[in-house]
Amino acid sequence: MKTLEQVRAALTPYPVEVEFPDIEPWKTGNCGIDYVHSFDSGQPGPHVLIMALTHGNEVSGAIAVDTLLRSGVRPRQGRLSLAFGNVEAYHRFNPQDIDATRFVDEDMNRVWLPAALDGERDSVELRRARELRPLIDSVDLLLDIHSMHEESAPLMMCGACSKGLEFARSLGVPATVVADAGHANGRRMRDYGGFGDAASHKNALLIETGQHFSKKSEHVALDVAARFLIATKAVAEADVQGFLSQQQPVTQQFLQVTEPVIASSMDFSFSEDFRGLERIARAGTVIARDGQREIVTPYDNCVLIQPSLRHLGQGVTVVRLARVLAI
Ligand SMILES: [Zn+2]
Repeated sequence: MKTLEQVRAALTPYPVEVEFPDIEPWKTGNCGIDYVHSFDSGQPGPHVLIMALTHGNEVSGAIAVDTLLRSGVRPRQGRLSLAFGNVEAYHRFNPQDIDATRFVDEDMNRVWLPAALDGERDSVELRRARELRPLIDSVDLLLDIHSMHEESAPLMMCGACSKGLEFARSLGVPATVVADAGHANGRRMRDYGGFGDAASHKNALLIETGQHFSKKSEHVALDVAARFLIATKAVAEADVQGFLSQQQPVTQQFLQVTEPVIASSMDFSFSEDFRGLERIARAGTVIARDGQREIVTPYDNCVLIQPSLRHLGQGVTVVRLARVLAI
């Protein structure tokens, strides 16, 4: 049986092309929560939040939030909050083991259920989520900035409600928007409370900017953050013009996740070096082997969402399958 270290050693390593910003200057926030800065315009309008580092090694969001804080951007209406999530994991980043600091004890993007937040269980991530919860409860519009294990074009994850899809469309980038209901092993921040409730006015987006450590991801993070602030009318375009770098695609492609592929063994391998967004033409095509089990595509034109073995384990989602939505 292979170990995770052996699996990772066989994968192509990615160079760390970006600088990890020193976020220590942002430790003392201005709203009673460390690493959270919140600015009220004094004018009516929504409370918008840009969250970085929900996963500790996903540095592009930290670069974007650090850059926005240093720019001195302030809301023209409503309230703007800029936050760093799993700072404990971020501070433990080790360039020799770049995949290890996604979290310390558990995935902070699976704890956003009242039962977990109100429960007795303790972890570094639950403690931080409980600190952040009063902030998140007061947010109307959220952008949660993530990045991916493998180099792939950026993806906007818009959740299961049509309001998320419309929100993603209003930003105009990136080219690919993915509708999905999250994960069976816990709830993401973007699906928490009103964000995941079709009847609520609240809305949330999760951007996957590209590979964790690539320079491209840094530009995507800042560009999408700026477009989020413009789309929510927190700022005027002129306020963040310098951060816009992506060309708007002619049309966005919308995908619907239908199912995860969950590894049942450490003897799991893909049939090709998939990186994400590959479209498999024929139903029944073998895309992976899990021990003796063949994993085949269930329908024609099946799109692979975030295939990766960097966190392989029994019960771990290693890729999700998606249909192209006709919109
Ligand atoms: Zn992430």
